[in-house]
Amino acid sequence: MYDVAIIGGGPGGYAAALYAHNFGLNVALIEKERVGGTCLIRGCIPAKTWLKTAEVFSTVKNAAEFGVDVAEPTLDWQAALARKNNVVDGLVNGLAGLLQSRKVDVIDGYGRLVGPGKIEVVSDQGLLEVDAANIILATGSVPRAIPGYEFDGQRIVSSDHALDWPERPDRVAIIGGGVIGCEFASLLADTGAEVHVLEALDQLLPGTDPAAVKVLERKFKKTGVKIKTGTMVGPPDVGDDVVRVPVGDDAVEVDVVLVAVGRAPLTADIGLDGTAVEVDGGFVKTDLVTMLTAEPNVYAVGDIVAGTPQLAHAGFAEGIAAITHIATGEPAPVDYNAIPLVVYTHPEVASVGLTEAQARDAGYDVEVTDHGMRGVGRAIIQGETGGIVKVVAEKDGPILGATVAGAGAGEMIHELMYIVAWEALPSEAAALIHAHPTISEAIGETLLTSAGRSLH
Ligand code: NAD
Repeated sequence: MYDVAIIGGGPGGYAAALYAHNFGLNVALIEKERVGGTCLIRGCIPAKTWLKTAEVFSTVKNAAEFGVDVAEPTLDWQAALARKNNVVDGLVNGLAGLLQSRKVDVIDGYGRLVGPGKIEVVSDQGLLEVDAANIILATGSVPRAIPGYEFDGQRIVSSDHALDWPERPDRVAIIGGGVIGCEFASLLADTGAEVHVLEALDQLLPGTDPAAVKVLERKFKKTGVKIKTGTMVGPPDVGDDVVRVPVGDDAVEVDVVLVAVGRAPLTADIGLDGTAVEVDGGFVKTDLVTMLTAEPNVYAVGDIVAGTPQLAHAGFAEGIAAITHIATGEPAPVDYNAIPLVVYTHPEVASVGLTEAQARDAGYDVEVTDHGMRGVGRAIIQGETGGIVKVVAEKDGPILGATVAGAGAGEMIHELMYIVAWEALPSEAAALIHAHPTISEAIGETLLTSAGRSLH
């Protein structure tokens, strides 16, 4: 009899399993593959490793700009793939070791709820039964397909396939200009591929501040990415060597189509029928204060939770919240207002809290301040002056949100995370000094202006 049994060893599940040691809980973690989940095995970690390869490639390609003469670089895709696999294996093995040292029982197999406090595990050793006082569902998500574009792994692929491409395709159409679509467009274009991004809504990265999206689009145009927004694709014509994708009155011909239109929760076959757990479109309705579902002692965390972002770090936070509630009986809710979102394109786009549009929709009287990177010393030194910081504050009130686009945005957003979470006033935030020369000074300048007294 375990204190907690967790189905799913991705960020939500493994964070819960690791955090449980703080309370001396004994834990079983049921996982059908290696531990690590989407994030470590076919999501964040491999994708960002590929993006690093693309960054190094374009840095070398443009080295002459910095007075460094090198031969025209070539990309050894197989070597980059091997490096990606090494990075993933290192982190997966490290995680397995950490779980072991925390005395988590990792059970290999497919888990299903079969009764209150009971999970049946289909494993290589046959059927096992795991009994636990509390259960955490953390089964994650898979790439969503669209009718006519069913994945074949060759011509029509998901991000799962694309992270293991044996060579770089020359021409790629990406359906969906969201986070995954833009990250792949960035790495493919930076390494010399022809890329078409086909997005149904009227801008890339829907929901993101349009000024930040413009920064990314400008770079995409430079690297030749062809963007079509507000457009739906027709049924594809899949040949042996080529795929024809109808787009409006036009069509694009490519070697491969990457479908990146969102991720679907994996909850259809985990034994929820006959329980009180409520499901909406596959997502589990969860009390976001405790992470409890409607079934007593059954919690849900990560990508399957209805209405919360599908982000590894949201999963970590939800795992911690669930374990804290199990151990203490006290709610320790996640602060969803201050979860940063980072898009690891080059340049990066990062945000936290409300955008200007969201703040206005929520009824706030807002004051918006922005600052470009053009005059920022370190951005000029680095040759990366395309960028913007935008801060949204309530009039005569605290900072509600911020967006940063440009080099290092994914790191810089964290100072704004504290500012938003702690509801700092612009004058309070602006009172602190940033080191010079840094790109973060652009945030300092924006805060000064937001406080009513600009410097540069
Ligand atoms: P997403 O929701 O970010 O983007 C999907 C995009 O596809 C949207 O822009 C949508 O308008 C568009 N779309 C949907 N149907 C379409 C159609 N038929 N034709 C054209 N466009 C269509 O989803 P994603 O990019 O697939 O990512 C899945 C999840 O994984 C997201 O929640 C994302 O936040 C997360 N993720 C996060 C990161 C990160 O934090 N850096 C990276 C990768 C994925």
